[in-house]
Order: sequence, then structure tokens, then C-alpha cells
Amino acid sequence: MGTRYGFIYAHPDDETFLSAAVIRELADQGEAPALLLATRGDAGRQGLERAKNRTELARLREEEMKVAAGILGIAHTEYLGWPDGQLATIDFPALVAGVIAFIQKHELAYLFTFSEDGGNGHPDHVTISKATTAAVLSGECPSVRKLYYTASASLIASGHTPSIRVDTERWWTMKAAALRAHATQYIAIEKLFGDLANFPENHRWEAFVLGWQDGVMWPKPKI
Ligand SMILES: [Zn+2]
Repeated sequence: MGTRYGFIYAHPDDETFLSAAVIRELADQGEAPALLLATRGDAGRQGLERAKNRTELARLREEEMKVAAGILGIAHTEYLGWPDGQLATIDFPALVAGVIAFIQKHELAYLFTFSEDGGNGHPDHVTISKATTAAVLSGECPSVRKLYYTASASLIASGHTPSIRVDTERWWTMKAAALRAHATQYIAIEKLFGDLANFPENHRWEAFVLGWQDGVMWPKPKI
């Protein structure tokens, strides 16, 4: 099978935080998931302790991402190379064009990105979510069948039900290894997940809401 599944996020590590088990399950089914990252994560506060400057941090994070991609089974990792922390201020149509080019290149059918609130409100997350939605609605990506958003607290509160839910418990050793691969980010990772040696009950699920399907925004999930 070719590459049909695309994950579109802002920073190296977003893919592991939100979708490590979803990606690994797809890879195990013979899929070749593709990952697009809008930035190389070159403004991470913690990372700058380990790198002399942003260029070196970008290189470090790309190396970390390669290791994580191997663990998750990601077949293609691509970067748009926009500056970390500044996605909300760059030329939006140029960002959308980069997302469209990625979708077209791989003829992707199923896309995954942040919910429009960015999950945690990070402006980079919000912006790449909007850019992915704009790419799908542009009419220039006819290969796309479904667009999924992370099931953020606000999406659930507004009545949406996840149509993809993966229990990460049986995947925890794999997910923890991918998180550890993002070594420059260990403070943020431990803050969220705690000691990686222990399964984090409060982060059991990776969940996505179907946001768009075959021309329809927020299609009713079939029960
Ligand atoms: Zn992020």
C-alpha cells in the first residue's frame, strides 16, 4: 500500500504527543504514513539549553525526529521550514500552499491535524490547523477523503464524538521510546506525561474527531 495517511503538525514531537499509537497501528497494517511539520521546532525553550543557537537546535530536533519517525513507522517526514513560534504571523496563503503541495505529492486520502483551538491554544498549532482546513477546502486536493482533528476538550464540550480512539496502554513502551527520542524536550514531556516509566492513565487515549468528509464539514458519525 502507498502513502494514504498524512499527519500535519507544527513541531517535531506533536506527532508523538497526539498520535504515536495511531501512526504505529497504521504502519503495522502496511500503510506508509507521511508527516508534514511546519517548523523544525527551533525556538523550544528547553532545547536552547543544549544548542548554541536556533540553527543548531533545528538540526538537533531534526535528528531527534528521525529517531522518533523510525519508532513510529513514519515513512516520509517533510518540513515546511517556517520559524518556530511565528506561524501566526507569516504569509497564510504561502503556508496553505505548502500544505497543498504535500497533500498533492503523496495523493493523501486521510489527514490528521490539530483541532482549530490547537489543543492547548499554541498559536502555531492553531495556525497549522487552519492551514490544513484551508488546503482541504481549496478544491486543489481531490485525493482527500477525510480530515480528522485531535479530539480537544473544547471539541468534545461542543458535542463532537471521536470517531478514532486508540488505547495507548498496549503501545506505551513504544510511545515512551518515541517521546524519549525528542530528548531536547524532556522537561515539557515529563510535565505532561510524568515519569515515562509509568503508564499515564490521564493520557490513555489518542482520539480524533472526523471534521470533514467528501465535501461535508462535520459529517454526522455513523454509529
Ligand atoms: Zn507543538
